[in-house]
Amino acid sequence: MAKILIFGGTFDPVHYGHLQTARAALRLLQANRIVFVPANTSPHKLSPAITASAPQQRLRMLQLAIGADPAMEVSAVELLRPPPSYTIDTLTIFRRDRPGDELTLLIGADQLAALHTWKEINAILESTFIAVLPRPGFDVPAKPPGYIRDDLWKKVIANILDIPQYAISATAIRQRLARGQQVADQLPEAVMAYIREQGLYQKRAT
Ligand code: ATP
Repeated sequence: MAKILIFGGTFDPVHYGHLQTARAALRLLQANRIVFVPANTSPHKLSPAITASAPQQRLRMLQLAIGADPAMEVSAVELLRPPPSYTIDTLTIFRRDRPGDELTLLIGADQLAALHTWKEINAILESTFIAVLPRPGFDVPAKPPGYIRDDLWKKVIANILDIPQYAISATAIRQRLARGQQVADQLPEAVMAYIREQGLYQKRAT
């Protein structure tokens, strides 16, 4: 039986806040593998002034970021379904494809405040471990947000990992790139080279 960490997100783009915390979680939880699962979202609409990336480009950046690391994998499972991507459906597919493996979901601390909006969150928490990556500026909500069963919420917040924190966010990276500023210390070189090659996150001509 393998212990697998599932790490979902938009990864637009993937950065060291994802990669370093993922590596630390692998070690701390003594897991065999981590699988990054990019969500199928429509291209970024937050910032119409910046050129968007396509799901296949987010997938490619993840592949470049993990390189040949045998403990890391990227799954395109959510990109094969139309958006939105629901974690409950992804877990069903993982359980079907990897029977016998123990699955743990990884989430950043910023996700705790929105956990109640996840489809069938109580069913997810009943069947799956969740480990939380601490993130600067995101405290643990004192009470469960919305309707999450108390015992299940307690299980989640008992699992906040004691690992280093990184003040890096994809939004800030996109904004810096659009302003022509450096982000080389925030993501792997291969990802940066791809961003340049594909002309991602540039200011749109008006
Ligand atoms: P955005 O700034 O666009 O919201 P993001 O940097 O939060 O992006 P996502 O792709 O949304 O990146 O995040 C995927 C997962 O990684 C989420 O669970 C998120 O909470 C977590 N995460 C992202 N950045 C960090 C970080 N610096 N430390 C810990 N967890 C993080």
